[in-house]
Amino acid sequence: MKFIVFSAIMNYISTYSLRMIAENIQNIGEKLKNACIMAGRKPSDVQLIAVSKTFGTDAITLAINAGILEFGENYVQELIEKRNALIDRNILWHFIGHLQSNKVKYLAEWIHMIHSVDSEGLAVEIEKRAAKAGRTIDILIEVNTSEEATKFGIRPNHAIELVKAVSRFDHLNVKGLMTIGPFTDIVDESRAAFRLLRSIFNEVNNNGIGKHPMEILSMGMSHDYAAAIAEGSTMVRIGTAIFGSRTSQSN
Ligand SMILES: *Cc1c(COP(=O)(O)O)cnc(C)c1O
Repeated sequence: MKFIVFSAIMNYISTYSLRMIAENIQNIGEKLKNACIMAGRKPSDVQLIAVSKTFGTDAITLAINAGILEFGENYVQELIEKRNALIDRNILWHFIGHLQSNKVKYLAEWIHMIHSVDSEGLAVEIEKRAAKAGRTIDILIEVNTSEEATKFGIRPNHAIELVKAVSRFDHLNVKGLMTIGPFTDIVDESRAAFRLLRSIFNEVNNNGIGKHPMEILSMGMSHDYAAAIAEGSTMVRIGTAIFGSRTSQSN
């Protein structure tokens, strides 16, 4: 009896949050647009990536039906399972979590973009697997702009060096930079971190470092997208504001 009540409640909660997804997408779309207008930028210059980690294929399908085409995931195994289940949906998958070199081979044939390249060793492995798969993989260099010890990402003062090193590979396309903002609600702190990423991006482009000019600044999540857009973000990675809060701890 207790169990039946419990599962009825869980069912209710999950149907409820699924029902919210289309509405959430519309809301965040409006908010992103407003943030662009506030920053004097064109809404079409900021791309939305829906971060679906910990959420199931039912949630992803609703997001697709609401017009989302590009999804971000953090865990290789979870991503592979969802991709296999949704193989006929033409999703562009972004890998945004910490990537171990020994897992690159599972993604190399189809991943759309890897946001989290933070060492030359990882880049060497992606280059090798991309060559084997006969493709060029779009990557971003992840920079730890807040220098929080728990975060992945290259230190800001080593970022240019890494961009140079990675630009020599034939099967990698270094499209830009990525950062995770500081865990804070203080807008000025968020903006300082995003401004730092932007300054590295400008340094790369102004000095012709790298094969091609960079185009992408992947920065801004559910709590700090407005600060990121104000500092020039071209790609925001939004999870909670679309799918609701995550109950799992591994996020
Ligand atoms: C989980 C995650 C996001 C999305 O965060 P929300 O706060 O849920 O919007 C974005 N980027 C990365 C790298 C993440 O791990």
